[in-house]
Amino acid sequence: MAAPAPATSARRKRIVLLGATGSIGENTLRVVAAHPDRLELVGIAARGNWEKLAAIAHRFGVRHVGLFDDTAFAAARASAASYPPGTTIVGGLAGLVELAQLPEADVVLVAVVGTTGLEPALAALAAGKDLALASKEILVLAGTFVMAAARRQGVRLLPVDSEHNAVFQCLQGHPGAAVRRIVLTASGGAFRDWPADKLRDATPADALKHPNWSMGPKITVDSATLANKGLELIEARWLFDLRPEQCQAVLHPQSIVHCLVEFADGAMLSHLSPPSMTFPIQHALLHPERVPGPDLGLDLSKSFGLEFRPVDEDRFPMLRLARQTMTAGGVASAIYNAANEVAVARFLAGRIPFLAIPRVVEHTLGRISNFEPADLPAVRAVDAEARRLAETLA
Ligand code: MG
Repeated sequence: MAAPAPATSARRKRIVLLGATGSIGENTLRVVAAHPDRLELVGIAARGNWEKLAAIAHRFGVRHVGLFDDTAFAAARASAASYPPGTTIVGGLAGLVELAQLPEADVVLVAVVGTTGLEPALAALAAGKDLALASKEILVLAGTFVMAAARRQGVRLLPVDSEHNAVFQCLQGHPGAAVRRIVLTASGGAFRDWPADKLRDATPADALKHPNWSMGPKITVDSATLANKGLELIEARWLFDLRPEQCQAVLHPQSIVHCLVEFADGAMLSHLSPPSMTFPIQHALLHPERVPGPDLGLDLSKSFGLEFRPVDEDRFPMLRLARQTMTAGGVASAIYNAANEVAVARFLAGRIPFLAIPRVVEHTLGRISNFEPADLPAVRAVDAEARRLAETLA
């Protein structure tokens, strides 16, 4: 990664935000609104909510917007008058790629659900933009290719996921060789305190009641299965160039400690903040500058405890499966991710029980032979194959 350019208030950092209407997007807007002298939104994209996108464009004076969904793109074009005068409206994956390469952009924040952000992320890197990454699926699917592209271009990859941003902060000033392991904290999700036998009857409504974080439905279910932590371990391995066994997880119900980084001498550094995404987002967008943000830090005038528990992988098999795919290498993590997306969608639609999610993923992994992909089309092909197979199993 290249040395960061010094942030100056004379020239605002220009941001393209892909996924402006989701949970990360909304928190990013709060951060941008808090720093009108430092940050400027120049491009925004959403999957389908073109009306909300128009409101954001007006509020932040954005002139380039994109809609991934074809119907929404057509609706936005038909209602071009809803956008600020002179707004460029682009559509589909090609539109997102175009936004990711906007000549005036300094940094592209990819926060779209799933693997849709992969091509735009690679396009941003190819255009020499810094990449702020919130969509963990991108590295899970194509970690080798994305990291190689970032190295080739000498651009920065800024982690936005709270745990990875925390690790990134703890690693500043330390050589990689000094790191013994990183430990990501997991809240345990909605079923943290449920007895194992009750999980059989868990409904989508139950799974969507996250105790600490407010997020979209897919990631909230992933928190309940701990697949989210599994995906994060895989993401961490790529981001920080670690061996699979150096990436671990621990249950931490309070979601205040976001990571622990243990060094060769046994010392641990940790990162603490209230569970709000504005902290990692602001850090990624303003790094290395530190200034007050939209949310206050921890209030130490009140008592609170911090608790850590080992993860029971029999109860949370998605974590065990994720670690197995890291060790297996090749396309195993991509298969895990694809099968999980299918299974979670089926669960949310009320078509399979909660405990079927890991079964679908394990069976899909067992039915596709692993290989080292030569290029991205090979990864995309196995992703599609895993989805097709998971559909038949779910
Ligand atoms: Mg996270």
